[in-house]
Amino acid sequence: MYRVINKRTLAKRLLLYFIPLLLVGLLVGMPFLWLFIGSFALLIWHYRQLYRLTDWLQQQQSFNPPEGRGTWEQVFEGIYHLQHRNRKKCNELSTLIARYRDGAEAIPDAVVVLQNDLTIYWCNKLALTLLGLQWPLDQGQRLDNLIREPKFAHYIQRGKFTEPLELESSFSIGRVLEFRVMPYANQIMVVVRDVTRLKQLEQMRKDFVANVSHELRTPLTVVTGYLEMMDSDMLPPPGVWNKAQTTMLEQCKRMDSLVKQLLSLSRIEGARKQNNDKAINVPQLLKYIQTEAESLNQQKNHQLIFDVDASLDITGAEDELRSAFSNLVFNAIHYTQANGKITVCWQRNKDQAYFSVTDNGDGIAAEHINRLTERFYRVDKARSRTTGGSGLGLAITKHVLTRHQSELNISSVLGQGSCFSFAFPSNKIVAIANKQQKQSES
Ligand code: ADP
Repeated sequence: MYRVINKRTLAKRLLLYFIPLLLVGLLVGMPFLWLFIGSFALLIWHYRQLYRLTDWLQQQQSFNPPEGRGTWEQVFEGIYHLQHRNRKKCNELSTLIARYRDGAEAIPDAVVVLQNDLTIYWCNKLALTLLGLQWPLDQGQRLDNLIREPKFAHYIQRGKFTEPLELESSFSIGRVLEFRVMPYANQIMVVVRDVTRLKQLEQMRKDFVANVSHELRTPLTVVTGYLEMMDSDMLPPPGVWNKAQTTMLEQCKRMDSLVKQLLSLSRIEGARKQNNDKAINVPQLLKYIQTEAESLNQQKNHQLIFDVDASLDITGAEDELRSAFSNLVFNAIHYTQANGKITVCWQRNKDQAYFSVTDNGDGIAAEHINRLTERFYRVDKARSRTTGGSGLGLAITKHVLTRHQSELNISSVLGQGSCFSFAFPSNKIVAIANKQQKQSES
């Protein structure tokens, strides 16, 4: 703490200076001259101290002020403390600003701070990648001059920011950006979020609802039509009724299969990872699928070959794997002409467990291949409907495989046939010793 000079000390010091001068002046008979000389000397001394202070203030060569004497000692000391306090405050403020900027950098959105005239004051790094701003080149530029979208210029100049603005990014094509503008104090904060994924999900949800409604409406229209006919007085002949009954039954089965597949898809999506680590006897599972395939195959009489490694088991969820394997096998039966050849392979390949279904059937044109695992995607809707297909089978397979650390590979040549395959990593394979132990236990 520095000492404070009060009025009394000042007055005391003045008296201590002038009284001896006055006494000496009285003694020599020239009190006024002595007082004058004393005052003049005091004035010069004060001027000297003032000069030292102003010189230091102007030069500021050292942080500490020069050493003061007399009353000036307290003045210099006071300035030193003031200086010290200001420097501490400055440091605290810059730490605070740095912390706020770090915080703004950590936000997963682009942030741009504008002055009231819409010129850029500051922006975070994400704003550079999302909006294509350049820092510090664009500092002081108007944001509406850099984002050259009439919609954005209109939005920001209108000044009504209750609703966010959505824009297709002109900087990175295909991205949808959401702008939120928040005026505060004398500045405006613009927060920009990449909502491309959200938009895609929204679109997928809309497509999904539209597809489900469409898929259910078609069989319902058929059944309703026949039921309305039953209601009228003019009943059709029994032959027509038999056909109607068969069609209604087929349509009801279609709806039932669609609902079952939808439920299965949502069950797989919502299923937990823990249900995924039971040892599954895949060769036995493939035996059941082979029996089903052979009964499904009676009319088309395909050559069905199952090349199965009887010792190869994996861990997973049995229901899910059964639907993944059988979807591929039954698709091959549905989309291969009579007397075609279908080969199912379950073998070790390097250190992986490899599954494939190869057919010499219809094949698929290249432009469809990447879209086959989308829900309700079918190459030929009419054809798929006659086979009882809903377009959900491969979507289910894809989900199951993702949950089992695998992915579906499709290779196909139109008119020549297709191969659907996937491989499970070595950590999913059950060691042979474990399998033998299980068999001896059972
Ligand atoms: P679906 O229930 O219609 O069979 P999937 O999701 O199982 O639905 O299959 C999607 C589409 O992929 C089918 O409609 C069909 O056009 C095509 N497809 C699937 N497997 C084969 C295959 N082995 N050969 C030719 N096309 C196939």
